[in-house]
Amino acid sequence: MGAGSDCVFCRIASGAAAAEIVRQDEDIVAFRDINPKAPTHILLIPRRHLPSVNDVEPGDAEVVGKLFLVAKAVAVAEGLDRRGYRLVVNTGADAGQSVHHLHMHLLGGRSLRWPPG
Ligand code: 5GP
Ligand code: ZN
Repeated sequence: MGAGSDCVFCRIASGAAAAEIVRQDEDIVAFRDINPKAPTHILLIPRRHLPSVNDVEPGDAEVVGKLFLVAKAVAVAEGLDRRGYRLVVNTGADAGQSVHHLHMHLLGGRSLRWPPG
């Protein structure tokens, strides 16, 4: 799946598709997962289409770093910073990546098992 109107997360980033956005700036959009796996389940995406971690280049370091800074701010806003939360980036078939626009899951609000399935 390519960039632009083919990509559901590009459509969310541009406002062409609806999502419950919790935070956004010029580089990053954070919105609630449509099928939450925990009481808090938020997805963080770069606005610019990158299919996966496999496509990250040195020039993307700033925006990838910003994903962590926004994740931290969202975790604080959701009241998760003290009790804890998990950040997950599924990459490729074995990890079950289903949307091919780079995204970080922020999961929290319950005790999370380890290792994941
Ligand atoms: P992946 O399995 O690729 O790591 O995660 C993709 C996530 O995107 C899944 O948790 C899925 O529920 C979520 N998702 C897929 N389509 C939509 C959508 O249109 N809106 C929202 N808010 N989440 C979506
Ligand atoms: Zn995209």
